Order: sequence, then C-alpha cells, then structure tokens
Amino acid sequence: MTTTMHTYDQFPFDIVDGHDAYLIDDQGKEYLDLTAGIGVCNFGYSNQQIKQAVADQVEKVWHITNLYQNQLAEKVAEDLCPTGYQAFFCNSGTEANEAAIKLAHKATGKHELVAFDYGFHGRTTGSLSVTGYPHIQEGFAPLMPAVKMVPFNDPAALDAITEDTAAVILEVIQGEGGINVGQADWLHQVQDKCHATGTLLIIDEVQSGMGRTGHRFAFEHYGLEPDMITVAKGLANGLPVGALLAKESVAKHFQPGDHGTTFGGNKVVMSAAKEVLKQLNPEFLATVQAKGDWLFDQLEKKLSPLEAVTGISGAGLMVGIHLADSLPVGQVIQVLQKEGILTLSARGNTLRLLPPLIVDQADLDQAIDQISQTIQQLSAADQAVAVK
Ligand SMILES: *Cc1c(COP(=O)(O)O)cnc(C)c1O
Repeated sequence: MTTTMHTYDQFPFDIVDGHDAYLIDDQGKEYLDLTAGIGVCNFGYSNQQIKQAVADQVEKVWHITNLYQNQLAEKVAEDLCPTGYQAFFCNSGTEANEAAIKLAHKATGKHELVAFDYGFHGRTTGSLSVTGYPHIQEGFAPLMPAVKMVPFNDPAALDAITEDTAAVILEVIQGEGGINVGQADWLHQVQDKCHATGTLLIIDEVQSGMGRTGHRFAFEHYGLEPDMITVAKGLANGLPVGALLAKESVAKHFQPGDHGTTFGGNKVVMSAAKEVLKQLNPEFLATVQAKGDWLFDQLEKKLSPLEAVTGISGAGLMVGIHLADSLPVGQVIQVLQKEGILTLSARGNTLRLLPPLIVDQADLDQAIDQISQTIQQLSAADQAVAVK
C-alpha cells in the first residue's frame, strides 16, 4: 500500500540521478534513456546552461503573480511564438488545450468541436472530452457535449466540420495513439475545410513540438498554418509548463478576467524555457533531423525485416516500432530495462522511442542492436512455446 494514488502501474525502481542521456536508479544501475520523461527532457540531464539559468533564478525570486509585468515570460513568448501569434502560459499540456478550447468558444461564439480517434489531449474534463479513447473517457461521463469524434486520416471525417464547428483539434503525429503520422493531403483538406466554415484549427504540439521531429513544431513539415498551437512537455526541459499560442486575431478575444492561472509564467520555469529556446536554434534542429534520418534508415534496415515488426513510423526522434500481437510490447520494455535501456509503449502494441534530442548517435546505434536482439529472442521463445 502506498500513500500516493494508484494512477500509474509503476516499474519497481526509482530514478535518482542522471547525466547526458543516461539515468541512474536507486540501486546504482545506469540506463540509456530513450524516453526523455515522455518527450520532456530533450536536452538531457547535464545541460549546464539550463541548470545555471535555473540556479540563478532560484537565487532571485521564484514566483510573482500575473498582476505584475513579467519581462522573462515576455521574452520566452517572443522566442516561442511564430510571427503574429501571442502566448498564454500555463503549467501542463492539458491546461494548454483547455485554454485553446475556451478561446475557440469565445472567439467564434460556437461550441461544437471536432476531434479524432486516438488523439490524446489530456485528462482534465475539457481535454478529456476531445481525447479519442473510449477506455480513457470511461467512468467520467457526462463530458463536454457537442464533440464529434471521427477517424484520423479519413476523408469522410471532413464532413464532420461544418459552419457550427468552433474548432478542430488534432496532433499531426499522434503520439500516445501509436505514432500515427498524419497524411499531408488530408491535413491540408482539414485546414481548407476549417477556413471554408469559419472553424479554428488547433494543433496540439505537446509531444511533437519543441524540436522532437527536427522542426520546432511538427506541423512545419506540412506547411500548415494553425490558428492555435499548444505546447508543453519539452518547453522547459523538465519543469512543469504549458503554453497556448494563438494568432493575434484569435488571441484578442481573451481579455482580463476571461482566463488565468496562478503559476503560469513562473519565473523559475521561464528561466529554463528561455534557455531551452536559445539552444533550440536552426543548427541544433538540423542535428536532430540528421540523427532522425539516420535512425529511421537504421530501423528500416535492422528492424523492419524482423517477423515480429509490422512497421516503423514517426519523424525525427519520435519513433514508433509496431509489433505483432504475438509479442506484447510490455515484455520488450521489461527485457530492455534489464539490459539498461528505457523505452515507452504507445497504443496498438507500439514500442515508442522519444530519446533526449542530444542523445549520442553511437548510443542509438547500440540500442537498435539491443532492441533487435530482444525482439528476436522474445519471438523465438514465443515460437518455442507454440511448438510445444
Ligand atoms: C502529454 C500530452 C498531453 C497532456 O499533457 P499533460 O502535461 O500531461 O497534461 C496533451 N497532448 C499531447 C499530444 C500529449 O502528448
């Protein structure tokens, strides 16, 4: 019995230290980290500039109320926003999406939302209403009314977007949903239908953003132009943060009193985000792209031929390795842990890799071999059982 609620099934070790792209547990065992705390610690665990920025801020002031000006948050907003957008800072991905949903209602005067099967947007009531998993929603009805949940990458889904739709919310690469990559044509059709019906397009970049795919935002791969963008996970390298970025024409519908949060723009968090954005420059993004291209090449060569691997998907350092049903992903994850490699799962028996963006290519190379061996050993064992 523990005193924390049983909201997660936890592995039996506690990470107490880390360096570079490595984590160390309470027994002193070292792991190569291919999770980055679920796409959060993108610059790993030794980034001296980020640590120093936080340490310097801790010596000054940690928190002020949003009733006073905040030059640090202003600077982060300037560095984060595409031209013509404004930021609202909060503390998590789900809160960024809540803010987006509220702003969509206020800006359009409409309340219908369109969202997609296996899109994940968070666990608070508004975000949960647009999260397309029956089992995650189960037990919490009634949620927000007027949400149309339709299939991803499906042309028929476009019919759901009408003059009555306030907003469409989607991930261009569904993360939790199984690293499902959006089709460019279809995404542009969604955007066109939004424009034709006065519907706002919200792109959730909480997992795919902040350099994960080799661009600051994954929608840049497609040349899309969302009305709103939500970010969180990687923005402050591990301190809790979220942000809604909205085009000025939309953002102006939030006026004093319409929305707020005590901790949004927190000074310590912003000091980390400022340093993250400084380092997330075009040169750095090019290294992520190059590493990602190399990685997908290797995965195609070394993992695709395996019988138990049914597909590889993703972009940059956001990777899905799809496994046959006969090989449960949980088994692979546990064997890899014993071998000193931390990995994640996603829906659909997918082994998901979200390494820190600074991960060493040589380490990735070794990890791929280890993953390949593990998959082969487990599927051989599985066949041996089947033969008996
Ligand atoms: C993790 C995630 C969220 C929720 O973020 P929290 O910080 O856990 O609230 C929302 N959208 C996407 C795409 C995510 O991956």
